[in-house]
Amino acid sequence: MAQRVQGTEDLYGGYMRAWERMCRTAGELFGSYGFDRIETPAIEQVATFVHGIGESTDVVRKEMFRVFSGALMERLLESGSESGLKAKQRLALRPEGTAGVVRAAVEHNFVPQGASPVKVWYGEAMFRGERPQKGRLRQFHQVGVEWLGAEDPAADAECIIMLMEFYKRMGFDPSTLTLRINSMGDAACRPAYREMVRDFIYAHREEMCEDCLERAEINPLRSFDCKNERCREVMREAPLVTDNLCDDCREHYARVKAYLDEAGVSYVEDPTLVRGLDYYTRTVFEVEVAGSGVGAIGGGGRYDGLMELEGGKPTPGLGFAVGFERMALALEQQGASLEGERPACVYVACTPEERDAVFSATLALRQAGVRTEADYQGRSLKSQFKQADKEGASLCVVLGPDEVAAGVATLRDMSTHEQVQVPMASLVDEVRARLA
Ligand code: AMP
Repeated sequence: MAQRVQGTEDLYGGYMRAWERMCRTAGELFGSYGFDRIETPAIEQVATFVHGIGESTDVVRKEMFRVFSGALMERLLESGSESGLKAKQRLALRPEGTAGVVRAAVEHNFVPQGASPVKVWYGEAMFRGERPQKGRLRQFHQVGVEWLGAEDPAADAECIIMLMEFYKRMGFDPSTLTLRINSMGDAACRPAYREMVRDFIYAHREEMCEDCLERAEINPLRSFDCKNERCREVMREAPLVTDNLCDDCREHYARVKAYLDEAGVSYVEDPTLVRGLDYYTRTVFEVEVAGSGVGAIGGGGRYDGLMELEGGKPTPGLGFAVGFERMALALEQQGASLEGERPACVYVACTPEERDAVFSATLALRQAGVRTEADYQGRSLKSQFKQADKEGASLCVVLGPDEVAAGVATLRDMSTHEQVQVPMASLVDEVRARLA
């Protein structure tokens, strides 16, 4: 039997409805903040991710799924090296959404000089070659937003407020969510801070792991994130970014916090929060569910230098992404479900002789937009009622010889089992009124 690839999941039934609900909620909520949906290709040039996400990140170094056509793969295996490949032949599946959106924004000039900001949201599959485990998949789904062209700290605060509202609408008890925020500084103050951290790591080189010593070369701030407990212990004594912000960054961060306070959004300041991707500047944030053990269910931040890294004009930007599968796990632990309700449904049941009458009744109901089910296996009336229950139908239309002869239909309420007869001519209106 063929099996799905390890670390991937099939979305069907209630799980699919949950993903659909997440996208629908995103469309409604983010739409009310002025975000339009975007979909960029699942494959991009590797360079897009290297510029955008950063050479030193695990995502780029170890976790990208590379894509080659069959013909190219053969050539590669023969030559044993990809050094002869052009940039447009080096492709990868997207590990996250931001780099592709920013690439599209540069390519189509979404934000011409002096234009107002552009806001987009996406709901897509992402691909990372991680070791599969609970809450860590190789293909997973994210809903996210990107807001390009806004430097105002109100934009950072609004993004975070919108994110916390999103969790609420998806069914989380807000008191179980921890929002952590930090400012990572900018091009003016971060380089000097980065040097301080590098010097600190070198001064403690005996106690740090190989990875951290390597990171010290390319991006020492990542050591705050090291999974090695000993490194984390050492890093607790490292200089903190919030003590080393320039005046502009300190002012920006203070205003973000003031707006969050005004909106009544509670947060924890965490000066060691450095998000995994290199491109972040100033505000960064992450959300966890207390005691869930599933890791972050979402996060994001500001990336004012990213448009330039992707070849565009200097344009500020910020965004976040929310993981669907982890949200589903965390909600399940809270005894809630992401699934949402199925649309109301009617079942048209009949005796075997009246099958043709069912055909025209179901046709009329479906054309009127009513979710309608019927029997296609010649079941008894009793087992059709059972089937109707299983489909979640709240109402049955029953067509027997007496009904058809009299030009009526029997409507059976599936919870009270009460029955009434209505003229066939008004069946659609009667069903719609009862389902509403
Ligand atoms: P990131 O792009 O790493 O900041 O991830 C944003 C969100 O996507 C996280 O908070 C998770 O909820 C989710 N996520 C990231 N990586 C994975 C993965 N491998 N499997 C499932 N969800 C993930």
